[in-house]
Amino acid sequence: MPIPFDNTYIRLPERFFAAQTPTAVADPQLIRFNSKLGTALGIDAGWAESAEGVATWAGNHIPAPAQPIAQAYAGHQFGHFVPQLGDGRAILLGEVIDQSGQRRDIQLKGAGPTPWSRRGDGRSALGPVIREYIVSEAMHALGVPTTRALAAVSTGEHVMREGPTAGGVFTRVAASHIRVGTFQYFAAQEDTDALRHLADHTIARHYPAVAAQPQRYLALLDAVIAAQCQLITHWLSLGFIHGVMNTDNCAVSGETIDYGPCAFMDDFHPQRVFSSIDRGARYAWGNQPSIVQWNLTRFAETLLPLIASDRDEAVAKAEQALAAFPDAFHAGYLAAFRAKLGLDEGHEASPAFIKTTLETLAAQEVDFTLFFRHLTRLAAGEAPDEVIALFKDPAAAGEWLADWQAIASPTSQLAAMRAANPVLIPRNHQVEAAIQAAYANDFAPFHRLVDALADPFAPQADYADLEAAPQPAERVTETFCGT
Ligand code: AMP
Ligand code: MG
Repeated sequence: MPIPFDNTYIRLPERFFAAQTPTAVADPQLIRFNSKLGTALGIDAGWAESAEGVATWAGNHIPAPAQPIAQAYAGHQFGHFVPQLGDGRAILLGEVIDQSGQRRDIQLKGAGPTPWSRRGDGRSALGPVIREYIVSEAMHALGVPTTRALAAVSTGEHVMREGPTAGGVFTRVAASHIRVGTFQYFAAQEDTDALRHLADHTIARHYPAVAAQPQRYLALLDAVIAAQCQLITHWLSLGFIHGVMNTDNCAVSGETIDYGPCAFMDDFHPQRVFSSIDRGARYAWGNQPSIVQWNLTRFAETLLPLIASDRDEAVAKAEQALAAFPDAFHAGYLAAFRAKLGLDEGHEASPAFIKTTLETLAAQEVDFTLFFRHLTRLAAGEAPDEVIALFKDPAAAGEWLADWQAIASPTSQLAAMRAANPVLIPRNHQVEAAIQAAYANDFAPFHRLVDALADPFAPQADYADLEAAPQPAERVTETFCGT
């Protein structure tokens, strides 16, 4: 058995999924296989890169005993409820138990139509495959809970997007693909029996400690709130903007999922948006905490019939659980930015200082990652020149630095700063360059970025050029789903 499948989702009621075989592609070629992750999943790299392995990652071969399915879900897209979304271009091959005993999904993205494809082709262009591989593996190395990249293949076929575009298939690994939208799918049908099955499956899979609690479904809500709170804090601290935080793209496991038009900011602005479809800036960097709270409120609504048989009682309990979010988020946010700035824990002035710092960065159009990177070097004893050079106005830099020096504890907090401030992030212009090269059949920039980003906190002489902010002509200000 080349992939040690151990499937459980398929044992849930039939209305949770549809059996679906991937549709074969013309000429699959392996772009990259993540052998380290493969090993953790019990998949031999020799097999994974063999003709049969590559055919598997393309959906041309189904290794026994896979039972491929597409999963049902709903979701609020930009605030509007869509009762039927589902896997329109993704097929779950199955689940495996990894080396650490954790259950993981293996899913093919772009493997052909499913009952939920609607007018879509069930396919993916090569660009989004390259983007998701780079960014999800970078997020993992940056310490952020995330789905992972196991393999990328080109299909030898074209998909129709703006014009004919080379196609690809992406193999994604996730703790699960259960979304807030999965709960919404059954809640919208008032299918309480299905909700209970789904909640129990989620608890067993992601929050086993909750199973022993007297009010387990309320405890599940608490656990998901806590996981999403941590996730969002992490995103903000890295300048990450997901771009499409619809409830169907919000995993109850607390992993980052569905890398579409996501981006890391170069110069800081709290209202920064990259996604071409986010016209109202709903998912701007600084809006992400309130949007996640909104998504969690939608999640809580689905659990009401499980929380208590009396609706008013259920609502009161859910509201109480949700009320914990703002304080929990604020505490996590302060801790994250204190670490980035080298401030002692509990320093009274730090909330105001963090606020002023971010306002200054925005006003001075300072590169977010380089700022914290150079500040860390300053804390380690280097001259302040590189920090100052990031500001438009050196006088503003001098003022900010004087304030920082008065409040920070660079010596005692240096280790915390190093752990919070990466040297490398997947910058938009580099990701875009890797995508463009891939379309020209040159995968070297892609491999180089993936290799460099595997160790993002350590200065690496070979990859020093990747630290740079984009030149004005290189700047990428808009990203596309490009499904
Ligand atoms: P996303 O924007 O990736 O979160 O996708 C939203 C919904 O559209 C999901 O139900 C997807 O499965 C579906 N979808 C996106 N792209 C395609 C495609 N090329 N073919 C079929 N369905 C798609
Ligand atoms: Mg999605």
